Amino acid sequence: MNTPTKILLDERDMPTRWYNIVPDLPAPPPPPLHPATHQPAVADDFAALFPRALIEQEMSTARFIDIPGAVLDVYRLWRPSPLFRAHRLEKLLDTPARIYYKYEGVSPAGSHKPNTAVPQVWYNAQEGVRRLTTETGAGQWGSSLAFACAQFGLECEIWQVAASYRAKPYRRTMMELWGGKVYSSPSDRTAFGCELLAGNPDHPGSLGIAISEAVMEAAADPQARYTLGSVLNHVLLHQTIIGEEALLQLAKVGETPDVLVACTGGGSNFGGLAFPFLREKLAGRIHTVIRAVEPAACPSLTKGEYRYDFGDTAGVTPLMKMHTLGHRFIPEPIHAGGLRYHGMAPLVSHVYALGLVEALAIGQSECFARAVQFARSEGIVPAPEPTHAIAAAVREALACRESGESKVILTALCGHGHLDLAAYEKYLRGEMVDLDLPAATIAEAMRAVPVIE
Ligand SMILES: *Cc1c(COP(=O)(O)O)cnc(C)c1O
Repeated sequence: MNTPTKILLDERDMPTRWYNIVPDLPAPPPPPLHPATHQPAVADDFAALFPRALIEQEMSTARFIDIPGAVLDVYRLWRPSPLFRAHRLEKLLDTPARIYYKYEGVSPAGSHKPNTAVPQVWYNAQEGVRRLTTETGAGQWGSSLAFACAQFGLECEIWQVAASYRAKPYRRTMMELWGGKVYSSPSDRTAFGCELLAGNPDHPGSLGIAISEAVMEAAADPQARYTLGSVLNHVLLHQTIIGEEALLQLAKVGETPDVLVACTGGGSNFGGLAFPFLREKLAGRIHTVIRAVEPAACPSLTKGEYRYDFGDTAGVTPLMKMHTLGHRFIPEPIHAGGLRYHGMAPLVSHVYALGLVEALAIGQSECFARAVQFARSEGIVPAPEPTHAIAAAVREALACRESGESKVILTALCGHGHLDLAAYEKYLRGEMVDLDLPAATIAEAMRAVPVIE
């Protein structure tokens, strides 16, 4: 079959609805709980942090939600994003498999994150919010939010994990270029940050700590709201435009995936690509094996426990039932900064617990080795996060070479790595190590997780 290299959708054929998987699941996902009372959280519990429209989406049981026209207008700057057939990688691997990748690096920030940053900022602006706070690790989310705030004229304040703040100055420049204010976290702007800095002035920070700081800051200002770039239901909802487009693009070339693999940190690009395909699978129209890929150094799905835990380190967020390594867990500084989160999206955790998707963990050396093969064949330099998806796709393609099967493999190339070249430099110099996560470290972190009766 002679598929073109690039499968494009016309702007006029861009999907105009996001897909909510909740009504199609065989069991409803467990609700979030109030952090103090442990009772199911109600809309008002979130009102200090999020605008009404996003709280409604978070709790929605509607199957489809219309994308506002103003959001579609911004999406059109880079959407529909291309779907590529990896002819050159297939040839390099000498595999009969057909590999497709949906490329989100064409967005202004260089990843899938603007797909949710734009609607989050727009809904906040509609409700009169002037100022948004957030956290960022490697800087992908912070830069996406700063870009979206620039589109709609909101102030944007970003707590960046201290280790990344020092190591990735260009991401910070990007956030500032779009008008964002960036603070190193832990910062001296919150009581929690001051406490941590007093204990260790060179504290490396973590996503959980930066979330605590951004949440506390937003909760203290009635004009401000908080935003999160992954994990929550409404974030995964916004990302489903990826999978909806991919379904249309594969239909154009008459293909159905046998295997879908995508990397997971908080779960948004995985859910975004996978959930529309899972809908088709639950309806019996396709039989795709769906697999989430996580880093061996932060394996919340494959090694964490499925139970209620906080989304942040200080324990101020509602409790969410999710696969977690414990909210006090601080992952090793692997290069895939976007995958260094202690928990997994409640929706992804739920579909995994239901047995609807599979999961595996891969070490970073294998990931970078495959990313170099990918860059040398397909040309694009992947962000460190999707190197996990590429490594899993290559494993599948090599299995096809052994078995002679010509499976169709679909994956998400959710960002480019132009600002992550220091990681590649380390790999090319032979200095990259695989960080093992001892069971005792996980057990220790799990002791801090609250016990819910
Ligand atoms: C943030 C990020 C991730 C991890 O977040 P998910 O919500 O799991 O997608 C993965 N890849 C890239 C490029 C990112 O920026």
